[in-house]
Amino acid sequence: MFEKDYYQILGVSENASEEEIKKAFRKYAKELHPDKTHGNKEKEERFKKISEAYDILSDPEKRAKYDQIRKYGFDPSAAGAGDFDFGGADFESILETMFGGGFDSLGGRGKRAARGENEGDIHVKIDVPFETSLRGGKKSVAIEHGVKCGTCDGSGAEKGSRRETCPGCHGTGKVSQNQGFFALNRPCPQCFGSGTILRHPCKTCHGNGSTFRRQTIDIDVPQGIASGKKMRLAGLGNYDPRTGRSGNLIVTVNLLAHPKFERKGDNIHSAIRIPVEVAILGGERTVETVDGPATLRIPPGIQPGGKLRMAEMGFPHGSSRGDHIVTIEIEIPKKLSEEERKLFERYKELKGKS
Ligand SMILES: [Zn+2]
Ligand SMILES: [Zn+2]
Repeated sequence: MFEKDYYQILGVSENASEEEIKKAFRKYAKELHPDKTHGNKEKEERFKKISEAYDILSDPEKRAKYDQIRKYGFDPSAAGAGDFDFGGADFESILETMFGGGFDSLGGRGKRAARGENEGDIHVKIDVPFETSLRGGKKSVAIEHGVKCGTCDGSGAEKGSRRETCPGCHGTGKVSQNQGFFALNRPCPQCFGSGTILRHPCKTCHGNGSTFRRQTIDIDVPQGIASGKKMRLAGLGNYDPRTGRSGNLIVTVNLLAHPKFERKGDNIHSAIRIPVEVAILGGERTVETVDGPATLRIPPGIQPGGKLRMAEMGFPHGSSRGDHIVTIEIEIPKKLSEEERKLFERYKELKGKS
């Protein structure tokens, strides 16, 4: 009573694992893809059957019901087994999962775009030296992205030919079949749901409508950019022949550390060591800043770990700048000359009396 054995069609045993079923289908999908079979009716028919079998066996729930029907002729767990409807499989998502969305003739991209994601986006990370982030500058990055095929102008069809309405579904991208117990409504296996077929694919891009190009992009790094910030370069992502649009290049900034300066927000931090007498009496020190050497005034009595602020010498922030903050470390002499030691002893005496 059951003319189809889905296990036989897929060439797997009835105890096959999900992985084995997936593997078997993947093999057939590659072999019998419409772009490869070039309108061979027999192969198209075969693929239709195989995708139908996969539709059922890859879904644990449908498979369980099918197993019941296969064994008993009906599903004892269901009330009206006669009007069984397995519904349409989400064929596109099956193939997207299996081929990572890179399987071109499947309409997966359009679907994702409709969900508000931009599949054509490319993500890169750039290492930005401290100085470049401070003053702004250029940074080159090599990318490989899909661009519109110049030979066919993105159509995927050879010169003089064009995409044709799929005869299998008359352009709807869907077919419905009544197969005994099963009412199947699923993406057309002839055009993989796209509604069109290519009889003469462009030789340059093999019908994809896009080709890959390596390119070095000069990125303008804006002044003051922080680590982790993202920049969007419109149109430098992958070209999508379906929509005729290109995705974006999304650049994430990784700020490289500086050996002497540390950035915290818009402020720059560094440290200097001063001798104990300068800490006590005060004085001046030349410190390195991002603007070059600068004179830092040290007030008398500065404490270890004390912080001194050099205003407006940090990272640019709008029309103003952050500050450069210097942390003071105090050096205690390990050895003293005879005269120095006497002076400190005299100092100690004075402190004892006061
Ligand atoms: Zn082309
Ligand atoms: Zn079709």
